[in-house]
Formats: sequence, C-alpha cells, structure tokens
Amino acid sequence: MPQRYDAIFVGTSFASSFFLHAYLAQAPADARVLVLERGPHRPLAWRLQHRAQVRGWGESRGFYRTSNRDKPWVTHVELGGNSNCWWGCTPRMTPADLTMRTSFGVGVDWPVRYEELEPFYAEAERLLQVAGPDDHPAFPRSGPYPLPPHRLSDVDRILADAFPGEFVPQPCARPSVATAKRARCCANGVCEICPIDSKFTVLNELAHLFEDPRVTLLLEAPCTGVDVEGAVARGVRFERDGREEEARGDLVILGANALFNPVLLLRSGLEHRELGRGLNEQVGVNVHVLLDGVDNFQGSTSVTGHGYMLYGGARRRERAGGLLETWNVPLLRLEPGKYRQQLRLRVVFEDLRQPQNRVRLADDGVTPEIIWDGHSDYTQRALEHVEEDLGPVLGALPVESFEMGPVDETEAHILGTTVFGEDPRESVLDRRLVHHRVRNLVVLGGGAFPTSTPANPTLTICALSLWSAAGVLA
Ligand SMILES: Cc1cc2nc3c(=O)[nH]c(=O)nc-3n(C[C@H](O)[C@H](O)[C@H](O)COP(=O)(O)OP(=O)(O)OC[C@H]3O[C@@H](n4cnc5c(N)ncnc54)[C@H](O)[C@@H]3O)c2cc1C
Ligand code: SF4
Repeated sequence: MPQRYDAIFVGTSFASSFFLHAYLAQAPADARVLVLERGPHRPLAWRLQHRAQVRGWGESRGFYRTSNRDKPWVTHVELGGNSNCWWGCTPRMTPADLTMRTSFGVGVDWPVRYEELEPFYAEAERLLQVAGPDDHPAFPRSGPYPLPPHRLSDVDRILADAFPGEFVPQPCARPSVATAKRARCCANGVCEICPIDSKFTVLNELAHLFEDPRVTLLLEAPCTGVDVEGAVARGVRFERDGREEEARGDLVILGANALFNPVLLLRSGLEHRELGRGLNEQVGVNVHVLLDGVDNFQGSTSVTGHGYMLYGGARRRERAGGLLETWNVPLLRLEPGKYRQQLRLRVVFEDLRQPQNRVRLADDGVTPEIIWDGHSDYTQRALEHVEEDLGPVLGALPVESFEMGPVDETEAHILGTTVFGEDPRESVLDRRLVHHRVRNLVVLGGGAFPTSTPANPTLTICALSLWSAAGVLA
C-alpha cells in the first residue's frame, strides 16, 4: 500500500526549498511531507576534495542527450542542487522586464506584476541574506537589503561617478558582514565551491527544513512521474534501491528545474504544445581591459558592480538588453608596476524563447533530449553591437587597450520550458505556477519564465516559489 502524505516535493534546491519553507510555516504539527531528491548528500568537505569534478561540470553530461554537444547545460543533481555551485549574484528583475511586450514590443508580458512580486522578493532576499545598496535605481524596493553593500573597487568608483543612477554595488548572497550562520565573504573568488561556506546554499541556510519532524527526506530517490487521474494528481512514482515505488499526496510540487520538470510532466501524460519548448539561457560575453595607471581589485567580493547602461531604453525594442558585471577576481598582469591594472567586464544578455529550442523525451522514454539551434536574432543583434554599445563605458575608464572575448559556452541559467501565463492554450502553468489542467500540481523554477531578461534568475525563482505558495496555501 503506498504511503500517504499531505504534500510531496520533488527536488531540494531553491525552487522547492523556498516553497517548503512557506509550507512548513503554516502546516500543522501532524502534517506529513515527503521530499524526493534524485542525488546524494555531498557536504562541503566532499566538494573540496572533488574540486575538479565540481568545476568541470562533468557530472551534468550523463543526465541528458543533446543535438548540440558544443552547448552544455549545467545541472548538479544532489541535495541542495545548483545552490551548492552557484555564484550568488541576486539582482531583481526590473518592472519593465515583466512587461516586455508592452514596454518594448517583443516577447510577452508576465502574468504577474512587479508590485505583486515585490513583498516576495523582499522575503526571498531576507532568506538569502542578500547584501546590496539601499537605493537601487533599477527597481523599487519596500525596504533596505538585509545586509549592507559590498565595497566597490577603485575602477567601480570611476564607473559609479561616470554613470550616476546606472552603476551600483551588485546585490548578492555573498554576505558583506558575518551572519548568524555564515562567515563574511573574503573575496577569494572561487564561489562555485566557496571553501569558507560563506555564500548562501540550501545546505548552510535551509538544512533545518529537511530535519523537520514532519518531513521525510529520501535521497537517491528520483521521481519518475506524477500519477494523474482526470484533473487531479494522486501522487508520484519514484525509484529507490532499483525498485519503482509510489506515494500518494494531496499536493505535488515539482522543483526539479527547467530541464527535468518538463520531462516529468511528459512522463505523466501531460502533453501540451508549449511543454518543453522555448528552452533558453542568457548569453554572457567578456571584455578584458588593460588599464592605464589605475589599480583594480580592492572590492570585498568576487563580483562587485552592476551596470545598467546597456539594459533598458529604446534600443531594447531592437536588440537584447544586457547587464554589466565588474569582476573582482584578480587576473594579474605580468608587467612590473602594472600587476593590478586590469579589469574583467562581463555583459549578460537576455534571450527570447524560440519554439525550435526544446527539451523532449528521448526514444528510451526516460532521458531528456535537448534540441538546441542557437539563441535568437534579438540576442545576436545585441552581440553584434556590444563593442559599439560599450563605447561610452570604456570611454569613461583609463583604458590602455581592450579585447572582446568569445561568447561564453553557457550561462548556466536554464529557462523557459514550462511557461506560466493567463491563457491555458499558450502556457503550461497559471499565474501561481499551478498546472492549468491539474489543479493540485505546482511546477516551480525558471521553466516558468516566459522571457529571460538580463538579470540572473535565481532570486526571481525563489520569489516566485514564495508567491506560488502564498496563492496555493491561502
Ligand atoms: C556555476 C553556476 C553558477 C550560477 N550562478 C548563479 C548566480 O550567480 N545567480 C543566479 O541567479 N543563478 C546562478 N546560477 C543558476 C542557478 O543555479 C539556477 O537558476 C538555480 O539553481 C535553479 O534552481 P532550481 O531549484 O530550479 O533547480 P536546481 O538548482 O537545478 O535543482 C533541481 C533539484 O532537483 C533535483 N532533481 C532533479 N531531477 C529530479 C528527480 N527526477 N527526482 C528528484 N529530484 C530531482 C536535483 O538533484 C536538484 O536538487 C548558477 C548556476 C551554475 C551552474
Ligand atoms: S568570494 Fe570567496 S568567500 Fe566570497 S562567496 Fe566567493 S568563494 Fe565564498
């Protein structure tokens, strides 16, 4: 006889943990919650011993098939998911990011307004303990960030003076002062591992959720599908010790990310025209600048500045917006006296969903198969103009010379495969991330994003999980 639960969660990273946090806050003492995690528990000590494996992303490769081997899709399958290896950059989206069709005539509008999401952004930032500037020019805030901003470098200060209201300290989940659970970030710049456990991870900040007496956590227990009868999810199927098992639940919450959630829905017989389609990532490009007479790298974390000079405005009607990052990971020059006179600028561009880019079920009926045909013309135009658009930025700096790097092979932000929206014909999920057809099935994560925007997605993934919980559990 399958075990019965009030709620069943799939995955243990940002998307599912933030919903679980909200769920447990209101659940009675005798609630029964099952959490299924496909991967093992790998504590920090394991990660430090296996640095090459963590950094090489080699693990991700066996988890999917792809039509384009040049394009990796990074996903860490373990307790805490990608929160273990993320970099901790946490800008909000701007109000206009959520109204791309209305504001710029491209993409679609999101089914949720910025003002509706704002309190959930604030709560997500509290849980992540984000450090950031009190007055952020790009998005209105109802209160200060939980932690003060990081110290800028001298090069950042030149940009902040040259672009008032457009260049600010980057909001991030790398603490600027010690918190109750984490040490202050010491700017050593290997954040995918973070040897001092300073950046937010699910393991260092939210492990108590999985130790709650109401929660049963099963590791190395991959969900294989949702049992659906008519318009109701009855429970899930999962594997344990090589056997298939079942669990029954009143509410099913999928937080397995934008690669695996659509495949779980397909394996549950929930085909939809948009399901799995529109797979996309943002696109990052680097600029290496040799500086003339100014030392860099005095900042107090790995990425110190955010520039909005290429982000909005009329040009976004024609080409993708980009968010500028200044990196404070020292790349030293070899010339005596000029060791620190260098800058790494990154611009992260948004992409638009393309129907031909998709994830579907491979012939074996189990494995995600990615069909990837490249990013949109909208993004390509931005890449073609990036040097020209960066002219004023480089003009404000004492530049000896600069070199544009190639486009990064991955931004590691997987988005767009289970989009949310008002119209059940055009979207898989409703505005609270509940499946349009199966009303007790919630599907969380970046798959819901109908446009990608230039801002890193994870803070918004967390805020959307809290927004979803507020609607579903009301
Ligand atoms: C190196 C790197 C740096 C990054 N830096 C940033 C950054 O600075 N800022 C930012 O905003 N984003 C960053 N990201 C992206 C960020 O990590 C993702 O946006 C985020 O992790 C998505 O959260 P998620 O909970 O939806 O999915 P994931 O973190 O991918 O977690 C999915 C979870 O589901 C589990 N799972 C999968 N399939 C199953 C199954 N069948 N059954 C049970 N469990 C399953 C996984 O093991 C995992 O626990 C970075 C990513 C990488 C790789
Ligand atoms: S800069 Fe260093 S201390 Fe700060 S988050 Fe990154 S690895 Fe951790």
